[in-house]
Amino acid sequence: MGKIILTADRPSGRLHLGHYIGSLLNRVDLQNQHKQYVMIADVQALTDNFDTPDKIRSSVYELAYDYLAVGIDPKKTTIFIQSQIPEIAELTIYFLNLVNLGRLERNPTVKAEIRQKNFGDVIPVGFLCYPISQSADIATFQAELIPVGEDQIPMIEQANEIVRRFNGIYNTDCLKESKPLLSKTPRLVGIDGQAKASKSLGNAIFLSDEPNVIKEKVFSMFTDPDHIRASDPGKVEGNVVFTYLDAFHPDKGEVEDLKAKYRRGGLGDTVVKGILNDVLQNLLTPIHEKRFSLKRDHIFDVLRTGINEAKLAAARTMVQVRTAMGVNYSDKE
Ligand code: ATP
Ligand code: MG
Repeated sequence: MGKIILTADRPSGRLHLGHYIGSLLNRVDLQNQHKQYVMIADVQALTDNFDTPDKIRSSVYELAYDYLAVGIDPKKTTIFIQSQIPEIAELTIYFLNLVNLGRLERNPTVKAEIRQKNFGDVIPVGFLCYPISQSADIATFQAELIPVGEDQIPMIEQANEIVRRFNGIYNTDCLKESKPLLSKTPRLVGIDGQAKASKSLGNAIFLSDEPNVIKEKVFSMFTDPDHIRASDPGKVEGNVVFTYLDAFHPDKGEVEDLKAKYRRGGLGDTVVKGILNDVLQNLLTPIHEKRFSLKRDHIFDVLRTGINEAKLAAARTMVQVRTAMGVNYSDKE
C-alpha cells in the first residue's frame, strides 16, 4: 500500500491558513493512497516553550480538533503525540553522535528562528538540536514522503544526511531517506506582510477563528502603502490581500481581473478586502462547523488509538536500529 508519509505540527498554538495551504490539504489527499502518520510534536514545541507547558498541553488537543475539522480521517491516518513514543527519544540520543555543532548552527531555518525568538546568546541546547530530534521522528516511522512548507526543506536534508551516516557507519540499510512534498503555496506570508505566517508570530488567520475575527484580520492586512485613494494605481506584488486571493480564491480568472483593475486604478482596498473576506468565510465556515461538532471523548479515543499504532511501528524500527548498532543485549549471548 503506497508510501509511508509522516508530517508533524508543533502544538505551540492552533493551526492557521499557512498550515492549511502548505501541508494539510496535501495530507487530506495523501491519506487515501498511502500509510500516513501525523504527529503532534509536543517534545519539539517544548524546546522553545519549556516554561509554558500548559500552553503546549492545551494546544495538543487544539491540533487534534483542527486535523479532524479539515478532513484528516483517523480511520485512514494515524494521529499521535510525539512524547508518547519514547523510541523517538532513544533514536534522537543515537543521532546526536552523528551531527557536529557547526552543521547545526548552519541550518538556515534554525538560524532564522533563533533571530526571531530573541534568544540572544542563551540558546537552549534542546532547541539547537531539534532538527536532530526531527530526523529521528522521520527515521522512526521509515517515512518516505513529507508534505511540508518550504521552511522544512533544510530539516529533511539534515535528516537524510543523518540516515546516510547511520547506514554507513553501522553497515545497514534499515533507515530510509525521505523527500519533501511541497504544495503550490509552500510559504504563506503573514497578514502583516512578514515572510511567513506563523503561530509564534501571531500574524496568522487561524482555522478556528470566529467569523468576526477573520474579518478583522482581513481588514487589517498589509496592502500597497502608496495606494491611498481607490482611483490611484496600486501594486499587487507584495500586497498581502492579493497573495491570499492567489492562494485561496477558487476562480483564478477573477483574481487576474481584480489585479488588472487594481493596477490601473479604480479598485479600492476595502472592496478587495471584502472579496477576500467572503472567500475565506466560505472556506472556513464548514471547517468551523465540523470543529465544533466534535466531541472531546472522540478526540481522546483518536489519540489513544493513534499512539498505540505508532508505538508498534516505532518498536519495529528500533529493533532494527539496536541490532545494527549492537545494543540489543540478551542473556542468550
Ligand atoms: P511555530 O511558529 O511554532 O514554529 P508554525 O506556524 O511555523 O509554528 P509549525 O508547526 O512549525 O507551524 O509547522 C507545521 C507545518 O506547517 C510545517 O510543515 C510547516 O512547513 C508548515 N507551515 C507552517 N507555516 C507555514 C506557512 N506560513 N506557509 C506554508 N506552510 C507552513
Ligand atoms: Mg515552525
